[in-house]
Amino acid sequence: MITSKKSDLGGTEEALTGGEPCEWQRELQHNVTTVEGLEEYLPLTPAERRDLEQVTAAHPMNIPRYYLELIDPGDPHDPVRKMAVPATEELIVAGDMGATTGDPYGDDKHDKGNGILHKYPYTALVVTTEYCSMYCRHCFRKRMVGLPNDQTVKSFRQAASYIAAHPEIKNVVMSGGDPLLLPTSALKSMLSELRGIKHLNYVRIGSRAPVVFPMRFFDDELIELLADFNREKPLYLPTHFNHPREITPTAREAVRRLRSAGVTVNNQAVLLRGVNDAADTLAELMDGLLRIGVNPYYLYQCMPVTRVRHHFQVPLKEGVDLVDAARAKMDGYAKRFKFIIGHDIGKLEICGRIDDKLILKQLHARPGHQDESSRMLVRRLTDNGGWLDDLPECSLSS
Ligand code: SF4
Repeated sequence: MITSKKSDLGGTEEALTGGEPCEWQRELQHNVTTVEGLEEYLPLTPAERRDLEQVTAAHPMNIPRYYLELIDPGDPHDPVRKMAVPATEELIVAGDMGATTGDPYGDDKHDKGNGILHKYPYTALVVTTEYCSMYCRHCFRKRMVGLPNDQTVKSFRQAASYIAAHPEIKNVVMSGGDPLLLPTSALKSMLSELRGIKHLNYVRIGSRAPVVFPMRFFDDELIELLADFNREKPLYLPTHFNHPREITPTAREAVRRLRSAGVTVNNQAVLLRGVNDAADTLAELMDGLLRIGVNPYYLYQCMPVTRVRHHFQVPLKEGVDLVDAARAKMDGYAKRFKFIIGHDIGKLEICGRIDDKLILKQLHARPGHQDESSRMLVRRLTDNGGWLDDLPECSLSS
């Protein structure tokens, strides 16, 4: 549960610290956070036990009981397990896939202080909390999620003032961590700071709670708050389903409740080795999302994140083929997602390949590089290259 913070989250400090925990907060207190606790659910070898102690010292473990129950305890290669349970491979900081970084998206360069990241002129992202209901092992914000850091908003009122003073900002992403782990009263204060800003067209709340902790949406007060805000400005909830087994009846109910509040739910999956790196799995995932009313939006190439890249990233040569093979099985709505590299220079769509050349289109460009937005890029595919920087530049004719 989120406890006391020395901060002014738009007058919500009391809400963060006081009061009896409600049902979803009490459930979070049962999350598995220790290796001993994990052993009650999953058998571990002595070597695994030793390694996990070491891994969790660097990147904490935090798994809701709901999500643990989706794991097959008899299968050490279970795809759901890979996303939740720390692995020995996290101890590998350098390996075959190439260099790694803590900040692959270049967020730190666009940090305006007080939790605001302002990379593209039209979008501001506010890091509202470093907490999540689960600490995903593949997280690209692994450098800060679940760990003390100074990149979280201290005063949401000041963050809202920054946004109000920048009329070029058309939309805000409330991110983290997971903003929906904040008490509903704290969220209410934050949203009330945003609702009067005229130049904001819409607000996004990024949350993996529909996938890993869907009981958060059984809080009627939250649903009423979202419905109320949505009457003022459209609310979008980017979420993060990666595997069809995550689409459970409980997750479906969470999404149904969000949709009943008028919230549009878009999915941003990540292509992950051992999780969804098969055409059938990806097709099943996108079809399953449509079945519960979630729009397939992005499929990210796994970023070169330290302690993530070497066991989760799929080489682009393999990835582009398997995404095309998956798309061949999908109807029009299922294949609307874009296969994306979230790069330091901006967001790039992987359009496909011609022979050994990868064709990309830049979708967003950093400030001062507007000439790069909407450009096409061509790179030569290599056997292991998993990131733009790994692939030599070339032209279509060379
Ligand atoms: S919920 Fe999102 S931010 Fe939190 S650990 Fe998982 S991927 Fe990272």
